Amino acid sequence: MELPFAESFKIKMIEPIRRSTREEREQWIKEAKYNLFNLSSDKVFIDLLTDSGTGAMSDRQWSEMMLGDESYAGATSYFKMKNAIKNILGFEYFLPTHQGRAAENVLFSVLVKAGDMVPGNSHFDTTKGHIEFRKAKAIDCTIAEAFDTALDHPFKGNVDIEKLDSVIKNNTDKVTFIVVTVTCNSSGGQPVSMQNLRDIRNVADKYGKMVVFDAARFAENAYFIKMREEGYKDKTIKQIVAEMFSYADVMTMSAKKDAIVNMGGFIGMRTEKLFKQASVFNIMFEGYVTYGGMSGRDMNALAQGLDEGTEFETLETRIKQVEYLGARLEEFGIPFQRPVGGHAIFVDTKKVLTHVPKEQYIAQTLGVELYIEAGVRAVEIGTILADRDPETRENRYPALEFLRMAIPRRVYTNNHMDVVAVALKNVFDRREHITKGFNIVYEAPIMRHFTVELEKA
Ligand SMILES: *Cc1c(COP(=O)(O)O)cnc(C)c1O
Repeated sequence: MELPFAESFKIKMIEPIRRSTREEREQWIKEAKYNLFNLSSDKVFIDLLTDSGTGAMSDRQWSEMMLGDESYAGATSYFKMKNAIKNILGFEYFLPTHQGRAAENVLFSVLVKAGDMVPGNSHFDTTKGHIEFRKAKAIDCTIAEAFDTALDHPFKGNVDIEKLDSVIKNNTDKVTFIVVTVTCNSSGGQPVSMQNLRDIRNVADKYGKMVVFDAARFAENAYFIKMREEGYKDKTIKQIVAEMFSYADVMTMSAKKDAIVNMGGFIGMRTEKLFKQASVFNIMFEGYVTYGGMSGRDMNALAQGLDEGTEFETLETRIKQVEYLGARLEEFGIPFQRPVGGHAIFVDTKKVLTHVPKEQYIAQTLGVELYIEAGVRAVEIGTILADRDPETRENRYPALEFLRMAIPRRVYTNNHMDVVAVALKNVFDRREHITKGFNIVYEAPIMRHFTVELEKA
């Protein structure tokens, strides 16, 4: 008999979590103005809000924390991080930042000006926020297949090369760079193929533009290339990663994802010129160039995390857990973005809550129901997140209304995944009776999803 798959780690430290009653949760979510971000985490049993900064560090990473050098300038920890970035990702220059959006803020302060256009696959919300904040436009060039959730396509994060070419051709002076998000968070944690990365590079070269990777989940992307793309099955993750980044001029990284740390980020660059330009903003917004918003111990843990996070066993354990949850949902007939992404399941909520009007925030409604059912916290990737059009101030209704259940790295067991699956099934079974969603009573002018307040419609 073939041995079943099992995790490539054992557990050395535990953190208690607590169940609650439905009555408690109904009260708590009401007090939280039906915004799951407003719940204190002790009111959550299984927290799938995000996989960002929520992973469990390894014993090696914790050991590195003790070796952190907290010198203001030129700490050994800075050089550990520099070497890891050079050796694994291939970037000669880098700037540490406190997290991914800070890297975007610093880099875009150099590269983006009012009136610019930034084409790419579906931009992550903070990326889009930093582009629109500078009165520039993010142009989504993701392949059409990504918007059909029922379709199985191995690389739904891919850029439509023809569309990209025509956007640049028609706006040559407005485009400085292309952003490629690997994996593409907004389209469901979907990977970009190596062939597509190569094609993007060719388009960029044709017009003399730069390619910037938004690289939060680059290692998961490499895992999918190994498993799905012709010619890569015998390559190591580190070899695949090296080739991927060979097609980029610059990268921004939220290290809270694939570098498996609780806080941290950086910008990787190839030229001294860009490094010097970005350093000005880094010093202003983040900190001196050898720590940029990170403590020495965190830089050490990040360097170690980059190494572990690009090991096949780490990625296999992680992605198989996401696939396990996907298989349970499939068994119950619950529709989600297919194939299963790297870090999360994206439930296709328009196919679940067919009676809730889109003006009442379908994905948010399912998120509240799931919380009330079992204390499971997921997040809306739908109309609330899509925000208003900066010009017309009208709600933007995205093609897809997702409820994202992101799985923290090395944190939960498959028993927890079973609870999540059954909780969602119970909501799914009573979907015909859910006819009303929510109205917004307060929203911020930009990135409203974090602080929005709602009432029952
Ligand atoms: C998380 C994330 C970011 C932003 O990073 P933070 O560390 O949360 O600031 C940017 N891009 C992508 C694709 C992400 O997933």
